[in-house]
Amino acid sequence: MDNRISIEKLMEYVVPVTESGCWIWIGSMQEDSRRMNAEWENVHPDEYFWEVHFGHIPTGQCVCHKCNVQCCVNPSHLCLKATEGVSGETA
Ligand SMILES: [Zn+2]
Repeated sequence: MDNRISIEKLMEYVVPVTESGCWIWIGSMQEDSRRMNAEWENVHPDEYFWEVHFGHIPTGQCVCHKCNVQCCVNPSHLCLKATEGVSGETA
């Protein structure tokens, strides 16, 4: 993934919630960010924030939220989880 979009630009679409420490991503809810999202193709904001702060996400891993807030992008609330077994779980 290249770094066309700066963290400063991303932060324009983040609302910090001071009580919980969560950074709520509002980019996907805003009309004027659709163009920006199109540039990202299928990049999720939480994955982007992870890569900006911690580097490349290893193959077979995905970003999950320790705080259980799906739209949170605070790097300190994110963790990596193995994707193995998740998709093939339907019996
Ligand atoms: Zn959070």
